[in-house]
Order: sequence, then structure tokens, then C-alpha cells
Amino acid sequence: MNKPVIGITTSYGKHTEFMEGVYVHHDYHRTVAARGGVPILIPNASIDSALAVLPLLSGLIISGGEDVNPQFYGQDPHPKLGPTCTVRDEIEIALIRRALEADLPILAICRGAQILNVALGGTLVQDIPSQLPDAMQHTQLHPRGEDAHWVNVEKDSRLHAIFGETKTRVNSLHHQAIHEVAVALRTVAVANDGVIEAVEHRQHRFAIGVQWHPESMVAHGNQQMGGLFDALLAAAK
Ligand code: MN
Repeated sequence: MNKPVIGITTSYGKHTEFMEGVYVHHDYHRTVAARGGVPILIPNASIDSALAVLPLLSGLIISGGEDVNPQFYGQDPHPKLGPTCTVRDEIEIALIRRALEADLPILAICRGAQILNVALGGTLVQDIPSQLPDAMQHTQLHPRGEDAHWVNVEKDSRLHAIFGETKTRVNSLHHQAIHEVAVALRTVAVANDGVIEAVEHRQHRFAIGVQWHPESMVAHGNQQMGGLFDALLAAAK
């Protein structure tokens, strides 16, 4: 039986003067492979070349990384905005819209959840510590695969069907978050401070955005988060 091919979007990375370009944390492709999929990376070359990859895929992961350029939700940069990559934003917005039209399953992770919201008309909190001063720490200082805080999961959501719990532990490596949720999306998990931690598309059969990093929790031995990738791969067949 053919394994589902899962495209993974990529960040810009500069390692040395001579090594610059595609970067994606290895937990993404290792976890896809470990759960039975075939990972392929989508470089930020051009919108046309990225869209040309979509017919080859059975599923799409929008990965984490840079801040989203606030121009894509009609705002100017907050003083605490981090580095952005405008070509990546444009490519991912185009990929998300086309993938939804093509009924392709999408798992959007961290920045991925944020740009899923932006691609559908929502806005972001540009910097949690300064814009939401009562929020907890969402940028953990301990290892990436370890959990950091609770999230409360909506009962009749797909996420709840996958996890089987209304309260679970997640890791947290983000200083931005979803602010105004796009009309097409529904909030399905929030942290105890009210920060939105997961969204699902209201109509599409599988388009989930999570603010945490399930790929690194799986790499750290968390089986519950493995269920998220199993669900993506099942939807991808
Ligand atoms: Mn968090």
C-alpha cells in the first residue's frame, strides 16, 4: 500500500555565510515518517512552484517559524515583532487556500495555526507579553519536547475526538497568538489565560491548527500527540 505523501512548509535559515535557505526542525519529518507517512519539504521558491507541489500530496503540514508579516492582516509592525519572511507568508497563504479548495487535509502547527487564521481573514496578537500582560509564559525555557501548560479542549471538536480529554498538557514556544478568529474557523482549545491554542475549520473535513508543537512532543515520547499525526495520515488516504 502506498504511504501518504505529506508536504511540510519551511522556514528561512542562515547557518553560515555559505549555508542559507530551507530550514525545518527535524521533528516534523521524523514524526511524519515514524507514523507511516512520506515527508517532503516545500521550499520558498515561488508561489507557482509551491502550488505545483500540491497535486503530488495527500496532506499538508504548515510548520512553525518566523512571525507573520502583519501587513497580511492589515496592521503595522508592533515594536516587539520578530523577524518575518514575506515570501514564505505569501506562499503559505496561497497553499492554504488552494489546499482547502482541493479538499487536502491540513495540520497547521504554531506559526502554521497563525497563518491559517490570517489566510482566512483573522488577525494575530503580535507579541503576547506586551499586548496580553496577564498571560502566562508561552515561551518555555526547558526542552522543546516537554510540556509546559494546560489547554482546555472543546468537547464536540475533532481535537477532543483525537485526544479523548477536555484538558491536556502542551508545550509552548510562541510569542504570537491568534487574536480575532477567522469566520471559517472555530476555537477548539484555549489556555487558562484565554490565549487561543487550537482552531478547526468549520466546514473542511480536516483542517486543524494547534499553537503548540506536537511533532516535538511525539519525538519526546508523547503518544497522545502521535494521535494527531495518525488522524492526519488517516485523512490523507
Ligand atoms: Mn502556549
